[in-house]
Amino acid sequence: MLFTTIAQLVDLAETNKKKISDIMLEQELAANKSDQDALLYRMATHLKIMQQAVERGLTENLKSRSGLAGGEARLLATYNQKNTALAGNLITTALTMAIATTEVNACMGAIVAAPTAGACGVIPGCIFAVGDHLESTEEDLIAALFTAGAIGLVIANNASISGAEGGCQAEIGSAAGMAAAAVTQLSGGSPRQCADAVAIALKSMLGLVCDPVAGLVEVPCIKRNATATATAITSADMALAGLESIIPCDEVIEAMNRIGCSMPVALRETSMGGLATTKTGKQIAERVFGKPSPESDCASCSH
Ligand code: SF4
Repeated sequence: MLFTTIAQLVDLAETNKKKISDIMLEQELAANKSDQDALLYRMATHLKIMQQAVERGLTENLKSRSGLAGGEARLLATYNQKNTALAGNLITTALTMAIATTEVNACMGAIVAAPTAGACGVIPGCIFAVGDHLESTEEDLIAALFTAGAIGLVIANNASISGAEGGCQAEIGSAAGMAAAAVTQLSGGSPRQCADAVAIALKSMLGLVCDPVAGLVEVPCIKRNATATATAITSADMALAGLESIIPCDEVIEAMNRIGCSMPVALRETSMGGLATTKTGKQIAERVFGKPSPESDCASCSH
């Protein structure tokens, strides 16, 4: 491995006057014993699948089998056309694309797990909205995906990208960190600023539990993908403005790992806690599967 920490990744990039994406490409070349053209082609294919998922979510009349997902990306797109969105056009476009992608996932369509299927909307939402705004080239977007991949690789090796293991902070939180680095690089930020953007985004997602209603990756997952795009883009903006994370990125990742390990099993994709065991969450589970979500005993408090 060329790097196992974000600090090493940033040092390598800065010492060699390269982007994080360049270092990740070198890492993949070494690990896969593949040639550069083949790796770039594979990443271009991932980018294409991401684009097609956004397109499908915005043009097709999607509805998931549970009836919980579908149609909301188009609703948000219509709202965004009025140019009255409080978050502004860029962020609302990112939210729309994130929801479009995750609706396609809920309807069993093709998406790119980035880093997981449940978190598949964050990176496309961010890179396409920011890329459109900056008029980025396809080459820039492919490089941004390599940068996102470098961050995901460090998080996966030093913490987790699995909701069942580390809660939603590990899935959508990791996606927010990966996307924050990607759009920081797209915007001309330095490797160090990319790392700060990751740290700021991850800190905002620490402690987020995994509590899918009825065990389906729909509620709260779809809208959580959208809000995570806003977190990623605003984190990138802070880093690009020169704000630094007081806690170094690698220490944030370590903290995320410790928090995940101390999370009760009820809040790690079992649907035995959180939103899954609300009155409405249980009613949905009963309607979809004919039985309510199993509820865990809350041993740590008397509520
Ligand atoms: S709530 Fe759980 S299932 Fe849904 S996106 Fe987050 S980690 Fe994945």
